[in-house]
Amino acid sequence: MSQVILNELLKGNRRFMQGNNIYPRINTIRMEELLNGQQPKSVIIGCADSRVPPEIIFDQGLGDLFVLRVAGNIMSNAILESIYYAIEYLQVSLILILGHSNCGAVQAIIDNDHTESHLFFQHIIKSHNTGSRKKHTP
Ligand SMILES: [Zn+2]
Repeated sequence: MSQVILNELLKGNRRFMQGNNIYPRINTIRMEELLNGQQPKSVIIGCADSRVPPEIIFDQGLGDLFVLRVAGNIMSNAILESIYYAIEYLQVSLILILGHSNCGAVQAIIDNDHTESHLFFQHIIKSHNTGSRKKHTP
């Protein structure tokens, strides 16, 4: 099932890359269908960068994607709990982590020393440090 959903997303991305978006299921009829609940196909975890909106780059419609976005694409308890909600209550079977090139949030950390003054930057650094420590743990 997950492979079928991934193939749908990849087909949508091909349409986007070729400039052939069909913008499926984006209308008031679809909104009315969703009044009684949602059954998104997948969770997309991505950066809040305005250049990478998942619904558009995968050419998906209303109710198709459960999108979790934060600048720098960092993990937090809120993101983890949202993933849990999507799996447990919405029965989503595909979780896709969407990275992108030239991330402004990551570049801001590289270019500036905001680590002392900005909680957000401290959170990103802590998130990445925790991740790298886990990679090296046997
Ligand atoms: Zn980014």
